[in-house]
Amino acid sequence: MVSFRDFKLNRQLFDAIADAGYEHPTAIQEKAIPAILGGQDVLGIAQTGTGKTAAYLLPLLRSLNYAQGADARALIIVPTRELSIQVGNTIKELAKYTDLRYAVIFGGQGAKDQIASIKAGIDILVASPGRYLDLYTSGHIKSKKIKFLVLDEAERLMDKSFIGQFHRILETMPQKRQNLLFSATMSDLVKKISGDLMDFPITIEIRPDLKTAETVTQAYYKIPNLRAKINLLTELLKDEKNFNKVIVFCKTKVIASNTGKYLQRLYGEDKVLVIHGNKSQQTRINSMQRFKLENVPLLITTDLAARGLDVPDVSHVVNFDTPIIYEDYVHRIGRTGRAFKTGNSITFVTAADEFHLAQIEKLIGQKIPMLKVPRNVEIPETGYDENQAMLREIDSQKRKLDPDFKGAFHVKKEPVKKFPKKKVEAKKKKRTYRK
Ligand code: AMP
Repeated sequence: MVSFRDFKLNRQLFDAIADAGYEHPTAIQEKAIPAILGGQDVLGIAQTGTGKTAAYLLPLLRSLNYAQGADARALIIVPTRELSIQVGNTIKELAKYTDLRYAVIFGGQGAKDQIASIKAGIDILVASPGRYLDLYTSGHIKSKKIKFLVLDEAERLMDKSFIGQFHRILETMPQKRQNLLFSATMSDLVKKISGDLMDFPITIEIRPDLKTAETVTQAYYKIPNLRAKINLLTELLKDEKNFNKVIVFCKTKVIASNTGKYLQRLYGEDKVLVIHGNKSQQTRINSMQRFKLENVPLLITTDLAARGLDVPDVSHVVNFDTPIIYEDYVHRIGRTGRAFKTGNSITFVTAADEFHLAQIEKLIGQKIPMLKVPRNVEIPETGYDENQAMLREIDSQKRKLDPDFKGAFHVKKEPVKKFPKKKVEAKKKKRTYRK
């Protein structure tokens, strides 16, 4: 299995990747990162939810390396305001241990602050096509230093008058540069744009294998919090006859490790295996072999194991956490229903996961039926921190859909404190009196 360490990135980026909680590269990252680092032009066909943003940002950040000069050396053109904000947030996250600077510009609001952010000196500019051309024409953007041009969600850039804008943007670009074009679909227009932009790009197409999704019986439970998930899982596992070979997928090493320990205490260490990124390669291989060949009913893991694992008789895949890389859902459930095509997949969905569930349903083109949580499952109250984290997550999802959305975590401007007129006058009077 490929690891981020296999790429020629640097410590600053490895640390940021670890902080972001990425354990292993996604399919598009595995292919695009080395190609981009190798200086190739890339045409990437990948949807949102594949990790495509980090796939181009990581090599870009590595190549730009550190802050230099005043003018942008990378231009990322995106179709919408919300995507520009999202890309800006991902740069912030991944470049946090570097000194690289960036600005995000888009239409629909005044240009003053955006111009100021460019003037402050930048390495990366994220821009919508129209606003880029406006600020280029007015002389606020200098393009001479641009070495990397990224077109993100190019298929959405195609509508409206983009083709005209696209050629005008190209005219502003220096000849010698690396081009990266990402699109969710490969249409004739994408092919044309790609042909106008690049001579011999490496084409990377990520299409999740959706067939398994058809042969697996899928369902989900709405469940409010972590402790309730543990209770539901132990309740389901009571049905030992049916749940006889189960893989439980967690989103982080910590959750996998804690859930694993809990279940080991319950069933004994010989019945529960735990595999995640903190275990050595040899331990992981041994555990996988044991799960495959011995009578061990439970494997608790992260997405690390979703791909390579080939165990023919897995009865159930339990998504203890709903995957946010949507193709991981397909990989995960593909671990069951392999030999006899009668696998089951169960997904635990919190309020913060409903957004992701809808995206997964869109990806697989199916509605996943909901099951009722059995009555005897104890549902503890959601703790304050967990609840806040979920509310924050829901806010950020709503903001993705509507950048004007002001949620519970919107920072309100403090009202300027003014003394009521009367009081001020009274004070003045007092002073006069004192004089
Ligand atoms: P994107 O397809 O770029 O919109 O990314 C979708 C989501 O996946 C974002 O929330 C990213 O933070 C997350 N992500 C990107 N790469 C990885 C990775 N290697 N492992 C886990 N999550 C990732």
